[in-house]
Amino acid sequence: MKPANGKPGTSMENKTGNWRSERPEVDQSKCIKCGQCQLNCPDGCIFVTEKGAEPNYDYCKGCGICANVCPVKCIKMVPEEK
Ligand code: SF4
Ligand code: SF4
Repeated sequence: MKPANGKPGTSMENKTGNWRSERPEVDQSKCIKCGQCQLNCPDGCIFVTEKGAEPNYDYCKGCGICANVCPVKCIKMVPEEK
């Protein structure tokens, strides 16, 4: 099935609602800025900056892929603040 807009991997167009149950929390002091999280995030909503990886919580869907691929395990999935 084709995505509604005909383009794959463009979920950054869809803001996350209040249904997310977990969010990624990055310990930037341990981040080695390898870019794996940014490369693998299906929403394209985590970015490596000077400080380390930073998720954009307006778009993050809480899937946990970034935490799984991080080679130094500095991303932890934590329960969403309601
Ligand atoms: S939890 Fe999923 S959607 Fe959110 S930043 Fe990580 S990989 Fe992207
Ligand atoms: S995968 Fe982990 S170490 Fe690599 S940039 Fe992302 S948070 Fe940093």
